[in-house]
Amino acid sequence: MSQKPSDVAENEKVYLLEQARKQTDDWVNKAAALTDERFGELQALQPGIAVTVLAAEILTGASLLARESICEWMQGPVVCAHCGHSWRAVRPVDTDTLECPSCHKMFGYGPSLGDQ
Ligand SMILES: [Zn+2]
Repeated sequence: MSQKPSDVAENEKVYLLEQARKQTDDWVNKAAALTDERFGELQALQPGIAVTVLAAEILTGASLLARESICEWMQGPVVCAHCGHSWRAVRPVDTDTLECPSCHKMFGYGPSLGDQ
């Protein structure tokens, strides 16, 4: 299936935020491994470390928000496991069953070919 350009842009944004978060987490973990004394020295010499710790917190929050904003709902082709009817549905990501518009059973579905 083809994605809307805005979906691609959102996915890219989430990917970049995740990368930035991982990178800053790494820096923060390395900084945390330092003794308090050494960290204090570095902080005095390199104020960037304090900024990085703050940036990591901001990025973590932004990354979570961005992920939630695109993962809350998804759309795509689904197939009724009971009668085989296929249709397109917009559904919350954690939905396990949908009502089939053909046989009206609340049935599990599987993504048909082409769904991500
Ligand atoms: Zn059905």
